[in-house]
Order: sequence, then structure tokens, then C-alpha cells
Amino acid sequence: MDMARSRPYNVAIIGLGSAGLTAARTAAALGLRVVAVDRGKAGGDSLWTGCIPSKSLVASARAASAARNAGRLGITVGEVTVDRAQVWKRIREVQDSIASTDDNLEHFRELGVDIRQGPATLVGMRGIRVGDELIRAHRIVIATGSRPRIPEVEGLAAADPLTPDTLWQLPEQPEDLLILGAGPTGVELAQAFSQLGTKVTLIHRYERILPAEDPILADLVEERLKADGVEIVGSATAIEAALIERGTRRLTVELPPEDPTDPESEKVERSFESPHLLVCCGRHPNFEALDIEGSGIDHGDDGILTDERSRTSARHVYAVGDVAGRGHTHTASYDGGQAIRDIAIPGAGRRAAGVPWVVFTEPELGHAGLTFAEALARYPRRRVQRFERDLTLSHKGRTDADQVGRAVVVTVNGRVAGIHILGYGAGEAIGGFQRDVATRVRLRRMSRNIEAYPTRSVEVQRIAADTELDFVRRVRSWVPRMPGR
Ligand SMILES: Cc1cc2nc3c(=O)[nH]c(=O)nc-3n(C[C@H](O)[C@H](O)[C@H](O)COP(=O)(O)OP(=O)(O)OC[C@H]3O[C@@H](n4cnc5c(N)ncnc54)[C@H](O)[C@@H]3O)c2cc1C
Repeated sequence: MDMARSRPYNVAIIGLGSAGLTAARTAAALGLRVVAVDRGKAGGDSLWTGCIPSKSLVASARAASAARNAGRLGITVGEVTVDRAQVWKRIREVQDSIASTDDNLEHFRELGVDIRQGPATLVGMRGIRVGDELIRAHRIVIATGSRPRIPEVEGLAAADPLTPDTLWQLPEQPEDLLILGAGPTGVELAQAFSQLGTKVTLIHRYERILPAEDPILADLVEERLKADGVEIVGSATAIEAALIERGTRRLTVELPPEDPTDPESEKVERSFESPHLLVCCGRHPNFEALDIEGSGIDHGDDGILTDERSRTSARHVYAVGDVAGRGHTHTASYDGGQAIRDIAIPGAGRRAAGVPWVVFTEPELGHAGLTFAEALARYPRRRVQRFERDLTLSHKGRTDADQVGRAVVVTVNGRVAGIHILGYGAGEAIGGFQRDVATRVRLRRMSRNIEAYPTRSVEVQRIAADTELDFVRRVRSWVPRMPGR
């Protein structure tokens, strides 16, 4: 098609994952002339390789765990057996059901979105190419996501390891799995597979798992994973990997000296073998295939650089989601919608700031705002405090026989800067607490939020209530004397 003669679209969206789908839906709602293109299946990472398969797996794992632990609640269950084939089949069924409803492109066509299939590249200032077709658009939204990062370890790429992108293509749930990397993805999958009967070894380079989380909460998660049967090897630097005979993979790591105080003590090498090695070592933004070099779009290692309106350095091009170094489905989706608002009404869109997230372990770890260490680093001259509460002692924790649960509140000069909850239902609760973090509410004031009883959230509110009572004690001499007092 001749690019010069075709009528330009208002907006062209490249990538139909969480970010692109929301952008397309918003553009259609605003009545923009919109075209959207994907080189694969609509739904992207979240539907096909990320959230949906992993959370479907987690749901089966939680059911197995609940059945095994039912005795604590007076319920006797026979031996728990996992129907691995059914677990695996259900994952595909959940994906298919979302693909045929929420992410069904027919629905988008009905909304007025023109759809193209195939890899897109940028052409000139306001064009994209898909196959032989050149499409002009006043604004372009890049929403091309990310791909797994394979660390530079000798032999690792050649050992053909699994990644979260390829894991779900295995014909069945693996029996034995080595996982490299203990961020949220590695940790969630390690626990879920272990609860479902897979022998899991989790290998990571830091002192503790989940390095972005509150250290006490991360340690509690680690204990829970071990109780679930996961072997955890920390402070391990991967130095070599190989695909050895009979489809076995070997990973060799270097560990700290056995006695770090002894200068003679040397680093230790240890090797692990398994049919499957799953690499969960972060993501790499997908922009190379777009031909952005020479387009005036700046990028760093973490992704395409954008301003707070998601505009790239080429102002008519926006970048949202993982390709812009973001990293959660809800952020990708929010930013996709906001970018379109900004295109329709310049200045009206804003990237998400202060985004909560959840690590879907058992129990869940909800994260809103700064950790104590982050607050100390960001505000070295202010009064940074950390409050903690054991949720197993909450009335809900006791009725439900919780074995682990902890809430942490971080304040800066008395205002809430972070809330971190390890507990059942933390994923549902954290969004509400994020609002307290976003408004930097005074901790004392948070006691006026009324949480329904009995929930674990009541216990978080009690941290605030205790602060309020401390305050009341300090000022009680001001309270007018009552007769008889
Ligand atoms: C195992 C795992 C679990 C996760 N769990 C969670 C979770 O619980 N909660 C959460 O919030 N996040 C989670 N995430 C992260 C989440 O999946 C991503 O942050 C989110 O999907 C990113 O959305 P996106 O739209 O930016 O990119 P994607 O969903 O990756 O979409 C990008 C799309 O662009 C297309 N594309 C790429 N290049 C081109 C091109 N040149 N031309 C045309 N099309 C192209 C791709 O085919 C793809 O469809 C998880 C990730 C993984 C791997």
C-alpha cells in the first residue's frame, strides 16, 4: 500500500499485551482512529507466559497446601495426590477462556480498532511497517513488552534453559526443577511447584531471597518455602552451565568460604543437576526489532526512556509497559490508558506513580511504598521509623490457624511511607493501604480508617491506633478534669 496516499490514523499501537490492549480500548472509547498490531497472540506476557499461567499454577498449589494443612483446623483429609496432567491442562483452559473473552480481538474490532498481525518496525517519523503494509499515524504507542534475560554465564545459553516464556510449553509439570534467581517470579514458582510435588532447588546470588522486600518478611517467606520442601541455596554465583548426557542440565555455582573469618578458607564450588533449569533473572525490554536506532528515541538498559506522560524523546512516540522499564501488568495497563488520554488531550495523561505489588507466595506478600532501608537512603536527615506486628496473633490469624504473618509500617517524620504485609489476603488488602502511602497520611490518623473485624488488616490499623494512644498518653494532662477523677 502506498503510505503517502493512505489516510493517517490518529494512533498506531505496537504490541497487544496488557499495555497495548488497554491503550486500544481507551483509544476506541475516545473515538480515535486507531490501528493496533501484534506479532504474536493478543494478551502478551500476562496471558500467555506470566501472570495467568503462574497464578493458575499457584491456585492449584494453594489447594494442595490447604488440603495438607487441613488437620490444623480439625479436618482429616486422606493422602493428597496431585493430578499433574490436570493441573497443567487447567492452566491452558484458563488462558483459553481469557483469550476468548477479555482479550478476544473480535471484540476490539467491534469497538472500532483496526487490527494487524505481524512484526512491526518504525518507519520515518510517523510510520510503521507491518509486512508489506506501511501505516501512517500521528502518534505511535510502543507497547512491545520484554523477554527473559539470560545472564552471561559460561555455557548457560547453550544449555538451552527454560525461561518463564518456555516453561508452559513443557508437555507436563516437571518432576525436578532447578530455578536460578529468587526475585518474585523464581520464588512464586519455586513454592508452587514444590507444593505440587516437584523437587525444587532455588539458587540465587544474594544473602536472602526477594531482595527488594523488607528483610524480615523475606526471611519469613524463605522459612515458609523451606517448610514447603524447597532447597534454597543463597550467596551463590553461577559460574558454568552445561547440557550433559540424557537431557540433564548441570549448573555450577561458587559459594562463599565455609568459614569467612578464616583467611585460608576458600570459595566452594558446588554443582546441581536436573532435567530442567529455569532461569528467572529479570527481563530485557523488547525494542531492538522495532528499528528504533536513528528514530530519535532514547533508551537505556532498562528500556525506552520516557517522561511522566510516557512520551519518548521523539515526542509523538509514547512507550508504555515493560518496554519502558515498568514491570507489572497493572502498571502497563494503567500507563497504556493514560498515554492515550495524553494523546487525545495533551497533558491529561500521567504515568502511574507509587504502584503496589504482590508476591504471590503462600501467604502473599503485599508491597506498598518504601521499605525501611529505602526510606533511610532517601531521607537521611529525617526521622525514619519502622513498626511491626505479628499477624498470627491477630484474631483472624488465630481463627484461621495462620503459621506466619507479619505487617510492617514505615514512617518518615510520622507520615506513612511504606506498608508491607505478609499474610493471607495481603494481595487484596494492599491496594487500600497504597492509598494511605500515596497520601502520606499521618500514622496516627490512619487509626481512623475502620477495617472490618476480624481481618488481618485490623492488625495494621492497630499499629496506627497504638501510635494514637501513645500520643493521647502524652497529652492527657490537657484533658479537662472530670468530676471524681
Ligand atoms: C512468570 C511471570 C509472572 C508474572 N506475574 C505477574 C503478576 O502476578 N502481576 C503483575 O502485575 N505482573 C506479573 N508479571 C509481569 C507482567 O506479565 C508484565 O509486566 C506485563 O505482562 C507487561 O505487559 P506489556 O503490555 O508491557 O508487555 P507484553 O504483555 O509482553 O506485551 C507485549 C506484546 O508486544 C508484542 N510485540 C513485541 N514486539 C513486537 C513487534 N516488533 N511488533 C509487533 N508486536 C510486538 C508481543 O507479541 C506481545 O504481545 C509476571 C511476569 C512473569 C514472566
